[in-house]
Amino acid sequence: MSEIKMFEDRNVGEGYYKIDIDSYPTTPWEKFKRVVKRSLKGELFVGLWVVLREMIKFNIHTVQYPLEKMPIGPRYRAVHQMKRLWESGTERCIGCGLCEKICISNCIRMETRYDENQRKEVSEYSINLGRCIFCGYCAEVCPELAITHGGEYENCSEQREHFILYDDMLTPIDMVLNKQQKEFEGFGAVTPNEDARLKKTPLAY
Ligand code: SF4
Ligand code: SF4
Repeated sequence: MSEIKMFEDRNVGEGYYKIDIDSYPTTPWEKFKRVVKRSLKGELFVGLWVVLREMIKFNIHTVQYPLEKMPIGPRYRAVHQMKRLWESGTERCIGCGLCEKICISNCIRMETRYDENQRKEVSEYSINLGRCIFCGYCAEVCPELAITHGGEYENCSEQREHFILYDDMLTPIDMVLNKQQKEFEGFGAVTPNEDARLKKTPLAY
């Protein structure tokens, strides 16, 4: 056997079979027949039947947003909320600046000053939500549970400035008076058994 014959006549094993390759259609009618033969397979009608069956049953699986909305988890991190103290209704933020320092997008800006009683108060506070990546670090680091994330994820405006308004994030005072302020259950929140997990400082050294 010549060398070239050996390669042409390879023994490729039993699992292989040769494909019958039709000769290429030349006339329009032959081309049309080939298209029809290749297109209309049984699977096509199975798929059509499944679609028709679901249509007849009106078995709708899609959510009709915005009329319907999927419930979101309590740890969902959407637009921030600034909380008030339950007792007095004053803002919880003490101006420690931790949230500003930890923010990896550098989008929190705040200014503090001393009031007439020489107590520190927050004079300016803003979060540029156009830069915020909603990582949750600010809520996690806040020692006062003053800044948290809410569930409001639908944001649209014609002005970027509308996304930094502190007053929009602050709980309205009447919500606190009516006990409607919701505590945060996500990043940095107090866990339900926090008191039990607290370690007492040993007093006898
Ligand atoms: S969620 Fe993250 S990026 Fe947004 S303000 Fe807080 S720390 Fe900054
Ligand atoms: S970490 Fe909390 S208390 Fe401190 S400045 Fe930020 S929001 Fe205010």
